Amino acid sequence: MKKTLILSGVEVANHFYNSVPERIQSLLNKNIKPGLAVILIGSNPASKIYVRKKSEKFKDLGIHSETFSLPEKIQQNELLELIDSLNKDSRFTGILLQLPLPKHLDSNYLLNKIDPKKDVDGFHPENMGLLFSGNPRYIPCTPKGIIKILEYYNIITEQLHSVVIGRSNIVGKPIASLLSSRSDKGNSTVTICHSKTSNLSYFTQQADILIAAVGIPQKIKANMVKKSAIIIDVGINRDKNGKIVGDVDIDSVIDKVGAITPVPGGVGPMTIAMLVENTIESAEKLL
Ligand code: NAD
Repeated sequence: MKKTLILSGVEVANHFYNSVPERIQSLLNKNIKPGLAVILIGSNPASKIYVRKKSEKFKDLGIHSETFSLPEKIQQNELLELIDSLNKDSRFTGILLQLPLPKHLDSNYLLNKIDPKKDVDGFHPENMGLLFSGNPRYIPCTPKGIIKILEYYNIITEQLHSVVIGRSNIVGKPIASLLSSRSDKGNSTVTICHSKTSNLSYFTQQADILIAAVGIPQKIKANMVKKSAIIIDVGINRDKNGKIVGDVDIDSVIDKVGAITPVPGGVGPMTIAMLVENTIESAEKLL
């Protein structure tokens, strides 16, 4: 019996990290130093873990990164002042505003205030527009990581039917755009499903590539997937025992599908790797 291929994000990320020292050195030779400013507001436990993991990785790689931790109750104008000063600060080639923000802050308005040339998350409307018009400046980290996984494992997307579950600006919309783009990493026929899709299984059963970015633990079961499908599980959720699980029930689908990203160890490590890559790119754009 053919074994299911495990698409290891850890392996793909490590492959990418091997190329980092050379890229950093060639920037340093030209007196350019990449640097990332991370703005963390409040004490959302998941955000704190993400930010800690990101800064540990930057430290490991010897790339400058600083976290600006601000209290939950910070006012929008104070935050604007910080964003403004970081926009002007040449130590930082990249700026990341960790989402979600507390309810009294307007994330769209604030993301708009980050210098789009430093917007390494790619969430500024100018960068979203560039991405959707097929000429990206920064590709958001999670969708970029998914494309790198497909590329690393030589999965040709052309002519395949990709079904994306989720329509967020962070994952669903940009990955749908990339997979349908006129490019050798795209050229796929894409269907987008979301919370108002009726009969989700009807669509997921037709997917050659299924991207699950729903945020519901283990929602996707074997009866919802096509035989030999390629499954990209973006979800990071906790099950009722507190264990980290994806949006796909891996035990249920594993014997039916052709390939799958595990959770943890799949898309998650690639999101961090692509933040490193976008930060290096933010410095390379100064060359
Ligand atoms: P989100 O909450 O913004 O979006 C979820 C999407 O799922 C929505 O567009 C919604 O329409 C859709 N949805 C909800 N219920 C549905 C249903 N019953 N049927 C079909 N569609 C439904 O979330 P997001 O930011 O896109 O993240 C999705 C998941 O991916 C979360 O678990 C999040 O933690 C995870 N995530 C992981 C990474 C990573 O690095 N691996 C990065 C970003 C997000």
